[in-house]
Amino acid sequence: MSTLEIKNLNVTVAETQILRDFSLTLPKGEVHAIMGPNGTGKSTLAKALAGHPDYEITSGEVLLDGEDILELEVDERARAGLFMAFQYPSEIPGVSIANFLRAARQARLGEDEELEVTKFYKEMYEKMDALQIDRKFTSRAVNDGFSGGEKKRNEILQMAMLEPKYAIMDETDSGLDIDALRIVSEGVNKLKGPQMGVLLITHYQRILNYITPDKVHVMFDGRIVKSGGKELALELEDKGYDWIKEEVAQLA
Ligand code: ADP
Ligand code: MG
Repeated sequence: MSTLEIKNLNVTVAETQILRDFSLTLPKGEVHAIMGPNGTGKSTLAKALAGHPDYEITSGEVLLDGEDILELEVDERARAGLFMAFQYPSEIPGVSIANFLRAARQARLGEDEELEVTKFYKEMYEKMDALQIDRKFTSRAVNDGFSGGEKKRNEILQMAMLEPKYAIMDETDSGLDIDALRIVSEGVNKLKGPQMGVLLITHYQRILNYITPDKVHVMFDGRIVKSGGKELALELEDKGYDWIKEEVAQLA
């Protein structure tokens, strides 16, 4: 069961139900895109999966390779192999990227295990070279005064070093300039492979010009109303979201 399986998830925010019996299965090795109009609950899905306290899961299951992760704390979910990328990542002044990554890797080890620092740096620099990230970058404080592109570079480096089983990326890409978009897509394309599933949440299909998804899901009013191949993204770009609304209205 190498899948991230979301089953009938119901999520309430500020006493309003946002996700309604949301279900989705993301197999390892695949890239799935979720698209949908603003306010439909895409970020709510990402935040609920991350374990954000404001997003109350009233029912449903999330199984990571068969293990229910909803009972896990935020850091335990990360250790189980879930990686979250948000458009507005936190700044951590005073903590360098290198130290942050070291701490994150140390946290994954058992209590009496010590991270091998030399090996860690060797691996980090190899991965940075592969991703064409300047080595000086890791001495900067995490996201402190970063440009959009630098935040994305940091996100991709984190992904490379944490080797998640499933990466959920809420790009809300209205804020991504072309440079940042390129950094994310080149990074994802280099890192994707049989060991990782990627869920790419996006409003515009633009990013899908650079990352080819295995599947595209259209989300509307808190659940997926249509799934298809990459051509579905182009159809949405072409026709907008209104026809989906009409289709849903006809079914109701
Ligand atoms: P999307 O990412 O698809 O644009 P969101 O998940 O951000 O949609 O929002 C879905 C709905 O939930 C919106 O009506 C939004 O106002 C509401 N919502 C999201 N987060 C909060 C919050 N922290 N407090 C109150 N309402 C929220
Ligand atoms: Mg959003």
